[in-house]
Amino acid sequence: MAQRLIVIGGDAAGMSAASQARRRRDAGDLEIVVFERGHFTSYSACGIPYWISGLVSGPEQLIARAPETFRSEFAIDVRTRHEVTAIDLERREVVVRDLEQGGEIRERFDELMYAAGAVPVKPSWAHTDAAGVFGMQTLDDGAALREWLDGEPRPRRAVVVGGGYIGVEMAEAMIERGLSVTLVEQSDQPMSTVDGDMAELVAEAMRGLGMTIRTGMAVSGLEERDGRVSAVVTAEGPIPTDVVVLGLGVRPNAALAEAAGLPLGPTGAIRVDRRMRVPGLPGIWAAGDCVETLHRVSGMPVHVPLGTHANKQGRVAGINIGGGYASFLGVIGTAVTKVCELEVGRTGLRERDATAAGFDFISVVADSTNRAGYYPGSRRMTVKLIAERPSGRLLGAQIVGWSEAAKRIDTLAVALWNGMTVDEMTGLDLGYAPPYAPVWDPVLIAARKAVDALTAAGR
Ligand SMILES: Cc1cc2nc3c(=O)[nH]c(=O)nc-3n(C[C@H](O)[C@H](O)[C@H](O)COP(=O)(O)OP(=O)(O)OC[C@H]3O[C@@H](n4cnc5c(N)ncnc54)[C@H](O)[C@@H]3O)c2cc1C
Repeated sequence: MAQRLIVIGGDAAGMSAASQARRRRDAGDLEIVVFERGHFTSYSACGIPYWISGLVSGPEQLIARAPETFRSEFAIDVRTRHEVTAIDLERREVVVRDLEQGGEIRERFDELMYAAGAVPVKPSWAHTDAAGVFGMQTLDDGAALREWLDGEPRPRRAVVVGGGYIGVEMAEAMIERGLSVTLVEQSDQPMSTVDGDMAELVAEAMRGLGMTIRTGMAVSGLEERDGRVSAVVTAEGPIPTDVVVLGLGVRPNAALAEAAGLPLGPTGAIRVDRRMRVPGLPGIWAAGDCVETLHRVSGMPVHVPLGTHANKQGRVAGINIGGGYASFLGVIGTAVTKVCELEVGRTGLRERDATAAGFDFISVVADSTNRAGYYPGSRRMTVKLIAERPSGRLLGAQIVGWSEAAKRIDTLAVALWNGMTVDEMTGLDLGYAPPYAPVWDPVLIAARKAVDALTAAGR
């Protein structure tokens, strides 16, 4: 009899795992059933802001593979609108609710892949019957927001609550659609994924785009008129709006797993080993936004809910389930985003992370340009490096700038991944031609400045 793999969650991690397992084991050897409570599989939530802005038409463009394709081409039995409500590890069964027809079934498994993603943080004030308040997690959320923005009376003002990368990208989408945008952020700056000095550059650029940035301000409620949201309430008074978008971050969707006895780590996400096995539970796997992973620089467990990791981890799990060997080696916290033309990249530890991890370090900020100064389109690029004392080992890097800024972080990510020192980095053989960089690339300028700072500090 064929073994049976059940996958909970049909997006990045779940479908990567299912596809990889199928590549290695045919349907006669391994039956694969995926339960997905939504309507879609393998969709790009990352593309939602660009669909909202109108840059990408969708949502078809955001779907890599539809359920029918998985069924017909991969012999993967994808059941959308089916929610797993319990996992019985003893009987090796899951309890599944059919969200369309109603009713519950139990399905047995030999291997179980838990890939239920994350859930958006939604404070009590955001639970409202007023129309016009949107979280941003799924294609259904995107469709609902688009419908609202295209409807009558046509929304003119938007408030985005939360200045993380999703909030910032949604603020950009609203500006692109011609709305007047206020971003409300509880901490001192938006983009807390970079240090305050770099985040201030982002805030400055956002103001330059016409956005109102209200920092150090918490939303505590909503006002409505005729069933439609009309303002967000803050300690400094209401901010009138026609639409509210929540970007308050996510937490691991691990409740179902925890209830079944899967171990959670200190971040509240599921613990896994490097092959994506849940420790102590043979045949149980987990990957994606619901798991924690090792930060290779701090050595600490971290929860970094990004698609790039979910895809890789799902692939690793699938290869292993399929009988191969693969491991996920951890993360260093590389991420990129943009607000209109302004690009932001980060990798490794911020100053506060380096302090929390117990490092002694220096940090430098170097201003230069993306191209030769005389070449058309030359614009400011700011690179921040954090390096360990006295070794000079790179611990973290951040870049804010205009074109060609964000993906330059990859050079720094590779240096960081490989444990390079800033001294070694000063000699890196990076490409140069006037349209692409000044003679001294911004990365090299920053590395030289870091070496100077270490020397000045007596290393
Ligand atoms: C607006 C936005 C922009 C983003 N931009 C980027 C980006 O630029 N770069 C980047 O790397 N990442 C980005 N991300 C994050 C990225 O989308 C996620 O990290 C990635 O989707 C995680 O994949 P996953 O498979 O772990 O979880 P998910 O994609 O959340 O998939 C989990 C699936 O499980 C299903 N599910 C949950 N519980 C159950 C259950 N009990 N039964 C059945 N099904 C269930 C859910 O419906 C969901 O489809 C963005 C996210 C958003 C929302």
